[in-house]
Amino acid sequence: MPELPEVETVRRGLENLVIGKEVASVTVLWENIVQAFGGVTEFVNRMPGQTLLAVDRIGKFLIFHWTDVAWIAHLRMEGKYLYMPSTDPVDAYSHVILHLTDGYDLRYRDVRKFGRIHMVDKHQLDQAVKDLHLGPEPKDITTAYLTDKLTHRKRPIKGVLLDQSVIAGIGNIYADEVLYAAKVHPEQPANSLTDQEIQAIVDASKAIIGQAVEAGGTTIRSYTNAFGENGHYQQYLQAYGRNGQPCARCGTLIEKISVSQRGSHFCPNCQQVHA
Ligand SMILES: [Zn+2]
Repeated sequence: MPELPEVETVRRGLENLVIGKEVASVTVLWENIVQAFGGVTEFVNRMPGQTLLAVDRIGKFLIFHWTDVAWIAHLRMEGKYLYMPSTDPVDAYSHVILHLTDGYDLRYRDVRKFGRIHMVDKHQLDQAVKDLHLGPEPKDITTAYLTDKLTHRKRPIKGVLLDQSVIAGIGNIYADEVLYAAKVHPEQPANSLTDQEIQAIVDASKAIIGQAVEAGGTTIRSYTNAFGENGHYQQYLQAYGRNGQPCARCGTLIEKISVSQRGSHFCPNCQQVHA
């Protein structure tokens, strides 16, 4: 699933290629992707004539600012945006197609169909974003903030790092990387972390997410960004997907266990549960 760095890479691609483009007409081939107040009919009626003014990102959400509507969009597992000539054949996984006035399409392609495009009137955008209940992004968290959030949470720290209302933008890959860097076991109860460990998680979150954004995100399995380019942070992964391989710090083999229902990779020597 794309996390903050991968979604940021998509945002930059859209900004480079689609800003200033005007929609001529719209084809919706899989209606569940589109969530508009008046349903798909409203979406199809309102999008023609809209020009894309800006694309923002909040956590893992993309915010499309059109002339007088906005989208809050989520890629979920495998969604991607493609900018391609309108004459190119439409494949079975392209579910929402904006025909642009420049002879190109912006196509939303999603093999799993889990992604969503939520269209709102511009004046409703602020409230719709508030309703997402997202915490700050890693670059904006402080040790005092995270300490406060962990105090009353007994569940494993891994689950708290995945909670978008605590920190927005971290998913399974970067949660494993952050905990490895901070030398914290993924099952350590959140309210039992030492001040030093919380500081280490804050520092690692900022550093790792920042580096992953610079690298264009991580490419695993079939996931590539919106425009078919591969991010290259996967070459820096220390824990995620490395089960059975030696820890870069101590040589102990990385293990994989299930924590908060997610596969979690860690070094059993460097990351130990403590009282
Ligand atoms: Zn180790």
